[in-house]
This record gives sequence, C-alpha cells and structure tokens, in this order.
Amino acid sequence: MKNQSNFIKTIMENDLESGKHTKIITRFPPEPNGYLHIGHARAIIINFELAKHFGGYTNLRFDDTNPEKEELKFVKSIQRDIEWLGYEPEAVYFASDYFQEMFDRAIILIKKGLAFVCDLTAEEISEYRGTVTTPGRNSPYRDRSVEENLELFYGMRDGKYKEGERVLRAKIDMASPNMNMRDPVVYRISYEEHHNTGNKWVIYPMYDFAHPLEDAIEGITHSLCSLEFEDHRPLYDWFVKHTEMPKIPRQIEFGRLNIEKTVMSKRYLRTLVEKKLVSGWDDPRLPTLQGLRRRGYTPNAIRNFILASGLSKTNGSASIDMLEHFVREDLQQTTNRLMAVKQPLKVTITNYEGEPEKIEVPLNEELSDETRTIYFGKHIYIEQDDFAVERPNRKYKRLYLGAEVRLMNAYFIKANDVVYDDNGNIIEVLATYDIETKSGTNFTGRKPNGTIHWLEATTAIPAEFRRFSPLLDDNDESNDYIARFNHDSIHVDHGYVENYLKDVKVEEKFQFIRQGFYSVDYDSTDKEIVFNQIVALKSSYR
Ligand code: ATP
Ligand code: MG
Repeated sequence: MKNQSNFIKTIMENDLESGKHTKIITRFPPEPNGYLHIGHARAIIINFELAKHFGGYTNLRFDDTNPEKEELKFVKSIQRDIEWLGYEPEAVYFASDYFQEMFDRAIILIKKGLAFVCDLTAEEISEYRGTVTTPGRNSPYRDRSVEENLELFYGMRDGKYKEGERVLRAKIDMASPNMNMRDPVVYRISYEEHHNTGNKWVIYPMYDFAHPLEDAIEGITHSLCSLEFEDHRPLYDWFVKHTEMPKIPRQIEFGRLNIEKTVMSKRYLRTLVEKKLVSGWDDPRLPTLQGLRRRGYTPNAIRNFILASGLSKTNGSASIDMLEHFVREDLQQTTNRLMAVKQPLKVTITNYEGEPEKIEVPLNEELSDETRTIYFGKHIYIEQDDFAVERPNRKYKRLYLGAEVRLMNAYFIKANDVVYDDNGNIIEVLATYDIETKSGTNFTGRKPNGTIHWLEATTAIPAEFRRFSPLLDDNDESNDYIARFNHDSIHVDHGYVENYLKDVKVEEKFQFIRQGFYSVDYDSTDKEIVFNQIVALKSSYR
C-alpha cells in the first residue's frame, strides 16, 4: 500500500496526527466455517498492509460464535493460508476466549435497562420487526424488570431453557429506520458443542454484539470490514458505548472484491465440492487460496493484483485478465525457461548414430548465468502442431516435408519422410540433421524455416499437462450457477518434459517455452509429473 493513497489510509493518518491513536491496530476476523478465497485475501492484505505501513500490527481473530458451522480444520487451513500469503499476525485470538467478558457486558446492558429477555419465537420476532417502510412493534416482553431479566438470562446461561425458547435482545428503537436497530437479538441458546469451548456455554452472542466487543477488547483502532456491514455501524457503535468498553474501535467499510466469471461465496463453493463438480476445496479452478496455490498462483502476484485493484468504497468487479497479468508478471521474474512437448510426435534423425549428445544451455539468461544440460540424439519429440506434410501457407514457420527448422538450442533438421499408421495418422517423421548448424556456432550458411522446441526421447520425462478454463460459462447470464457450470473446464495432454526436471518438487514453477507457465501438482507420481498450467504466456482475453 505504498505510494497509494486511499480513504482508509487518510483516516489513519489523521488519527495519528491528532493523537487519537499512537499505534494502528487492525484485525482479520474470519469465521472458521470454510476455506479462504481471493476475496478474503483482499481483506487480509488491506488489514496487514495498512497496519504495517504505519508501524502498527494486525491480529488474527477467529470469529467463532456459531458452534453449528465451525470446525478446527478450518482454523488450521485459514492460518496456513495467511502464512502462505506472507503475513504474520501479532497474535491469534478466538472470539470464544471472550465469552465470559461478553456475558458480563451483556449483564451491564440488562442492569441499565438496555436489554431484555424475549420469549417470542424467531418467526414472531421477525414479524414484529416490521419492514423497511413500516415501523416494528414492541415485544410484549420488552418491559420486564431488570431483576426478572437478570434471572431469566442467568437461567439461559445455566441451560434451563430449550433452543429458541428465549433470547436476549437489546432495547433500542422498534421504529428506527435502520432495521438493525430494532431491538436486535444479542444472545441465543444453542446446545451444539463448540470447537473451542466444548459444552461450557449454551448461549452464544450474535455477530453484531460480539464483533464490536471483540474489537474493543483487543484494542483494535480501525475495524475494517466489507460494505455489507455499513448499515450495522450504528449498532456497532451503540454496543461499544453502552457496554462501557474502555477502548473505542472505529468501523470502516471497504468494497468487496469480485472477479468476473468467478463465484466466491462459501455456499456456492461448498455446493461445487459436495456435488463433486470439482476435485475438492483446492481444485485449481477454484478461487480459494488453496485452489489458487495449487494452480500455481504466487502470493506476490495476488498481493500485487489486490493492491493495484485499489481500495474503493464500492464493490468492484475485477477482470481475470488483470489478475492473470499480475501472475504472469511475477512468474516472468521468477521462473526458469525450459522445453516441454505436450502432444508429442516422434522424429527419427536418420543420420545420427551413438549415444545422445549433451548440450549446456541457459536456464533463463535474464535471471542468472546458471545452465542446464539438454540432450540431442537419434530419437526426439516435437509438437504435433509443429509439423505438416505440406506447407499450409507462406506464413507457416514450422517443419514440413522438405523444409528445415532449427531445434531450439541445437541443430537444423530437415524432414524427409513420414510414417503413417493403418488409419492414416502420422506416427513418425524421418529427418536428417546438419552438424554444421549447431546453435551458438554463428552458422550463417542458410536460414531455417523457424525455430521449434523439442526433447530427446530417451531422456525425456513423461508428464501430464492440465490446462483450465473458467468454471462459469460466460455466455449464460442466468444466476443458476450449477446450470452455468462449465463442464469442459479441464483439458489434459500427455507428453514430456526435459530430463532436468526429473526431481522437481510440488509447487515448483516453470515457464515452458511457447506453452505457458506451469506448476507441479501433488498428483504427480514416480511415473509421470503432473503440471498445472498457471497462465498462458500471453493474454487470451484481449
Ligand atoms: P463469504 O461471503 O464468502 O462466505 P464471509 O464474509 O462470510 O465470506 P468471513 O469469514 O466472515 O467470510 O470473512 C472474513 C473477512 O473477510 C470479513 O471481514 C469479510 O468482510 C472479508 N471478506 C469476505 N469476502 C470478501 C470479498 N469478496 N472482498 C473483500 N472482503 C471480503
Ligand atoms: Mg461472514
């Protein structure tokens, strides 16, 4: 967030200048009920980068006030994803650690006559609430005495009532134009076991009550959240004030990140996983951080993309093109360039005899002086697309019968004949090479008809190449995401990579010349390395 001014930064600057705060403290508050996606990355990056910019810090706080949906496995995966993005929280907290303090603060509200126990059912509460255009009606239980409220609330805590039988509500204003202020529920009863507190508590604070208190307890100065909480801000402030929290956090909203052709809601992602339309939460086509990581996206690329997409106060939709631009930019600066053949065609060099020859070639001249060994020999593979029996047109800069091309980093070869199978498919090309034309010898005798990538067959390593397209079918405008699901979103090829890659590790990334950027998938076996295409070399969206 350097050199970039934005409205949140300005607020923070002013708060430091005026002496309102001496340190900026933010938090990232996920609910541990699912995996993080790139939208969460936006919240993470905004919180951590802003605090860091001002020399402050950021807490990770699990907002675990719904025992029904929360699990330890999500806590673990969220922590791993944040670490992967390159951020280290100052401290890790759980909202559930504050249950006692929240309870005590609710008692304060009751004692001040600002909260009451209500016996209406959930349906009745929502019916009494009114609508945006009509005021609500007071609950018949609104005027219970402080003593009765205290007794009933203690009873709720002690497990005397069934789920849904009673709730604690704030007493604010049933006629408020802001629906959130119409006596919102503060505590509800649930007998579900909690991942952190087990069965200790049977009442749970609602988000709108819990969140501001959590922020205040931790001394958060600026509580940054997405835009849908804007209408909740008056309630946020109300709870901080009336529960007499000593430190007062300020809620500031920012726009949510959306990406075209991409759905991020946990509900949708869960449906895809449950219906087995994807291989799991880390399917490389998903916008989850684990999916993006498996696909081969780097933390750096994600951060640059988020920072470049700005911090507007409106929910914006970013293009995949823009995201891919930042992925490509980062990979260009970090990956070595090698050769891979995705759809191999056998070429026999009829005038070559003996063992394969070793050739030392650069790994990536722009990045280092390091080299790798490639092999040239009697049997090689080229891309099926790089050969035609007859020249299709004058622009064709590849191999065809009678023509000569350069094998990148090696020799000119000339195609002399083809071998067909019984069905008439080309299965082999017979060629000759010219030893005078070795790459690097400044041979100027004649020009080849283009340069192609290739691999020596006996040393090449088998590989699977997976290429992905968006999960949503762009042409369909309907909101039925399952109907819009693109069933043709994985494309698989079986070919080879250079021998240099025989010991690659999962998540290692490479640029395959003329093909794209690829990352090693954990599906790889001893027999075949599996590569995910991270992004093509050039944008396909323009
Ligand atoms: P989802 O709607 O995808 O289920 P959520 O908002 O319920 O996500 P939380 O765990 O509550 O998920 O989110 C933690 C933080 O991440 C919140 O502050 C939320 O505002 C923020 N966040 C979630 N999605 C986005 C998004 N698309 N863009 C920006 N911030 C987001
Ligand atoms: Mg949420």
